[in-house]
Amino acid sequence: MLGLALVVGLFGTRALSQAPPPRAPLALVGGTIYTNPLLPPIRDGAVLVEGGRIVSVGPRSSVRIPRGATVLDTTGSTITAGFWNSHVHFLERMWANAATAPAADLTRQFQLMLTQYGFTSVFDIWSSWDHTRQLRDRVESGEVAGPRIRATGPAMFPKAAGASPEMELSPTAVWASLGFMPQETIRLSRVSETAEAVANAKRLLDLGADGIKLYVTFGGANGPSMSAGLIQAVVQEAHGRGKLVFVHPTTTAGLMTAVRAGVDVLAHTTPQSGPWNDEVLAAMSQARVALIPTLSFWRYQMRHDRISAADAVEESAVGQLRRWVAAGGTVLYGTDLGWVTIYDPTVEYELLAQAMTFPQILASLTTAPADRFGETASLGRVAPGYLADLTVIRGDPARDIRALSRIDYTIRDGNVIYRAPR
Ligand SMILES: [Zn+2]
Repeated sequence: MLGLALVVGLFGTRALSQAPPPRAPLALVGGTIYTNPLLPPIRDGAVLVEGGRIVSVGPRSSVRIPRGATVLDTTGSTITAGFWNSHVHFLERMWANAATAPAADLTRQFQLMLTQYGFTSVFDIWSSWDHTRQLRDRVESGEVAGPRIRATGPAMFPKAAGASPEMELSPTAVWASLGFMPQETIRLSRVSETAEAVANAKRLLDLGADGIKLYVTFGGANGPSMSAGLIQAVVQEAHGRGKLVFVHPTTTAGLMTAVRAGVDVLAHTTPQSGPWNDEVLAAMSQARVALIPTLSFWRYQMRHDRISAADAVEESAVGQLRRWVAAGGTVLYGTDLGWVTIYDPTVEYELLAQAMTFPQILASLTTAPADRFGETASLGRVAPGYLADLTVIRGDPARDIRALSRIDYTIRDGNVIYRAPR
């Protein structure tokens, strides 16, 4: 906890009215640097950061460290661009009253959930719009040390004809026992008509949402589903404003409808529908969707079920991902974190490694989300001119994928927002 106190002391308590003090350049010296997951790494390298941006990267001998720079010895570590988790939710009770919660608490909560594992950017694809926006404002003001947050606000759910627009996801007591903020706080919407869905998308986008999240089928294969026309209309509205549409497909039928309607990101695989055949893969490839695997989500979701049943679903999810990767599809790392309340990503990395190589996994954490979310020129790579979002991993994840969750430093905009305790 010593590291935590240090980080909070340095970065967590700056008064809002105060101009930020001029920062000394920051140098990371030693270790292996992946400038881009698809390129061979630089051994015994160095990175120099000034004014929140990377100014120089290369072999140690080629990077001039100015006098007065803060130097971090990263010998024996691996340096990559800051990680993205493209599927999170700020739904837990600890994020409620985000406008007034103590800054030190919020900083520690971000460390617990994300920054201690190297995450510098997240896409929250369903939560209370108000709470998440307040959370983001406090991070962006510099008051709270946390990740970059993009958010869709509440998801839209399908409604059976004649059903009431109000919905409870689960009985209030059950919901509370899961640790989430009250359902009425989230104000999710339930839609059956295209016009309703488009009006709701417009409202969220006007408020500043970074994307739209649709839950295509709800309550299992026989639950109500969104029509192709409804999805298409929402896609058109979002794309007109340069925003993406995420979907929770539930079933492969839901996936096909969504993909053909032009959605951008699949928030899960569909392992309960059996393997993906060539037709499914062709439709996904043609639509150029990105896939968030959430492989560890299934066992979490089935934690009360028979273990062999959970094994089968997990194996099916890994198989679907393997086929998508073989087809050359884009993968974005994401774990449904915040719904799944086990924050340690180690199991996810182990499962991903059954379907992907280390460079592919690293791309899903860095370049792939930066490219898909329109940040190709500023995030996802370790290169001069890029924002200084860096993850310093202890050891070599190319040899042992579990090293990806052992983090020495998490750096955002050139600020150390997490430092491992020594
Ligand atoms: Zn989710």
